[in-house]
Amino acid sequence: MPNPLPTVVIVGRPNVGKSTLFNRLVGKKLALVDDQPGVTRDRRFGDASLLGLDFQIVDTAGWEDENIKTLSGRMRQQTMAALEGADAALFVIDARAGLSPLDEEIGNWLREQEVPVIVVANKAEGRAAEGGIYESFALGLGDPVPLSAEHGTGVADLFDALRPHIEFKQPEDTPEWEGEEGEDPPLGPLKLAIVGRPNAGKSTLINRLLEEDRLLTGPEAGVTRDSIAVDWEWTDPKTGEAREIKLIDTAGMRKKAKVVEKLEKLSVADARRAVDFAEVVVLLLDATQGLEHQDLKIAAMAIEEGRALMIAINKWDIAEEPSSLFNGIKEALGEGLAQVKGLPVFSVSAITGKGLDQMIGAAFELRETWSKRVPTAALNRWFDDALMNNPPPAPKGRRIKLRYITQAATRPPRFVVFGTRLDMLPTSYERYLVNGIRKTFGLEGVPVRVNLRSPK
Ligand code: GDP
Ligand code: GDP
Repeated sequence: MPNPLPTVVIVGRPNVGKSTLFNRLVGKKLALVDDQPGVTRDRRFGDASLLGLDFQIVDTAGWEDENIKTLSGRMRQQTMAALEGADAALFVIDARAGLSPLDEEIGNWLREQEVPVIVVANKAEGRAAEGGIYESFALGLGDPVPLSAEHGTGVADLFDALRPHIEFKQPEDTPEWEGEEGEDPPLGPLKLAIVGRPNAGKSTLINRLLEEDRLLTGPEAGVTRDSIAVDWEWTDPKTGEAREIKLIDTAGMRKKAKVVEKLEKLSVADARRAVDFAEVVVLLLDATQGLEHQDLKIAAMAIEEGRALMIAINKWDIAEEPSSLFNGIKEALGEGLAQVKGLPVFSVSAITGKGLDQMIGAAFELRETWSKRVPTAALNRWFDDALMNNPPPAPKGRRIKLRYITQAATRPPRFVVFGTRLDMLPTSYERYLVNGIRKTFGLEGVPVRVNLRSPK
């Protein structure tokens, strides 16, 4: 039987941006947005999708039909009704306005409820929001998720915060519970993003791949153009097969920047947008510059977003001491990105075309790995062995029980371990499990996630 969609309720005082967030998540202009408090009147339901997580979203804006200063008994009741059976609540505050007494009151009240609460610090774009974001830690409801419902930034963080609470009810989980395998939908065009610092050679590389000069390139950082996604067919030189690719291009989004520092910041933001779209992310490095902090930041972001990541060292045609450069970068990646072992690294030249076909071929393979479903029986066999070889610890003399494991999702592979006293499980043990899965099932180079879950 298919699971019903999980339910997420938006709570917050008037005018903090609840309707805007609702619209953003539902993807349509369903709720009325207005500057005046209390404009929306009904409780609204919508089917939301957030980077592939599906849930029903309830906007509670309708409870604000008075110019309320405190949480009235009636509001409490209605909020309670909406939260009944909900899987998570998004408690929205206005980071620009800072915490109000009403926010604090709602926060106090929410703390007593059973539903998991995620504080969303909305209107978080720009400096003006910093104070409010820090203030919202004081609600005692965990780390706030800074977000701009209006501009759409921060949704990836919201995704990460929501996921533990609702992922188990995802429709895609259903076949898994029944033990069926190989049911994943066929893979469409490869969604590929090429990201990197300004001047790494992204535009040149894309030109070269597309073999036409429709993108403007130049030695000046940030000289670029408009296009965001290009549909393209790549011919695999090994098989002669034509394969579809949707190439997501970031550089075009930063043409408005004027100063270099701004550019540096912006390229991370651009990368974030491209990563949102992509299945596989190629981080392009400049062989004449090596690996820098910002590269690691972009790489870590791609991994956090659950994307398959590969590294391409560009301008190989002018690299000095190529072999020590290559090894140095590999080593630095191993240290800087311990989350993902075995990231594929390629040396390429956008100018000569060296290494490009290998890189694209590997991107297709990496997507396969990223989409892989591990057979349940093999997974459980591995799990039993892993526990036997290295049993979980017994803090205060009581053993942590790990009962079974299942793969809940692919793209990236995500596993759920069921057991008891899981909050006591050291992160080193989680890492032991993640590394074991990665090694045993050939999931090198993709983020592998393991969640712990106690049966209710
Ligand atoms: P609600 O009463 O909580 O449902 O709030 P609305 O969604 O109606 O938004 C109230 C006001 O805040 C509107 O003018 C929105 O345009 C504005 N707003 C919503 N989200 C953001 C945001 O992320 N940034 C900024 N600056 N304004 C926002
Ligand atoms: P973007 O800012 O990342 O889009 O970088 P561009 O594509 O504009 O390239 C920046 C500069 O690096 C330009 O002068 C390119 O000609 C040069 N460049 C890009 N790829 C290569 C390469 O493989 N070899 C060499 N020698 N130069 C390259």
